[in-house]
Amino acid sequence: MKASEFDRRFDAGEDVTDAVDWEKATRPNANDPKAGEQKRERIAELGRHITVLCDRHEIACYEFIKGREEEFAIPETREVFIRPIRSPISYLIALHEIGHVLGRYQLSRASAVRERWAWRWAKANALIWTAAMERYYANAIERWLRGS
Ligand SMILES: [Zn+2]
Repeated sequence: MKASEFDRRFDAGEDVTDAVDWEKATRPNANDPKAGEQKRERIAELGRHITVLCDRHEIACYEFIKGREEEFAIPETREVFIRPIRSPISYLIALHEIGHVLGRYQLSRASAVRERWAWRWAKANALIWTAAMERYYANAIERWLRGS
């Protein structure tokens, strides 16, 4: 299977385990300290983006120390409570909470409307957009379209 086809199937959420030659599988970055460093730097940049957004828009941003609690926002007091940014997904969720303060239709009485537009704000303002972020986003949107 070509790499492009593999990526397409992987991104579509299909099971690609049959296409992986586990015998030959290696972790190309495992022995490369620079790759890990670059990854940490990219994640740190996402964390700084959250800090900059909150500073610029006068939003008080609180990070849970243990990182287990559910993220939430209080639009009225411009406060967001997020987990430490350790991946593109925690970055996306932090953006979503900021979207509850800065996004459109956040005064709607329908929570589905508020949620959908907070997600849209997150997508519109993200510095990066990965396949994992797209999957998380699509699931969240779908959940709110189905539910309440
Ligand atoms: Zn939300």
